[in-house]
Amino acid sequence: MSRPNPTAALNGSQTGRICDRCNKHVRTGDPVTVYATHYDGDGWVMRRLWCDDCGDSTIGTETDGADEVVLEAVYWSGRLVGMTTTDRSWP
Ligand SMILES: [Zn+2]
Repeated sequence: MSRPNPTAALNGSQTGRICDRCNKHVRTGDPVTVYATHYDGDGWVMRRLWCDDCGDSTIGTETDGADEVVLEAVYWSGRLVGMTTTDRSWP
């Protein structure tokens, strides 16, 4: 089954501005790291936002059977732009 490309699906999406690890507020122009999971029916869902100090470039402990990605993006006025994939659990 083919899934939409996560960067195409999430680029430009609205996001909160508080790092999920250190609670720092990110500002427009700051690089951020995003973690997302694909759900059948819902598509790609963003689940974590990390500031530049906290972001991991790899998934780390994978969730069994889940299609997960780590993405780098820039926070811009409540949206995520310039997104690139840095790690994905499914090839
Ligand atoms: Zn942080």
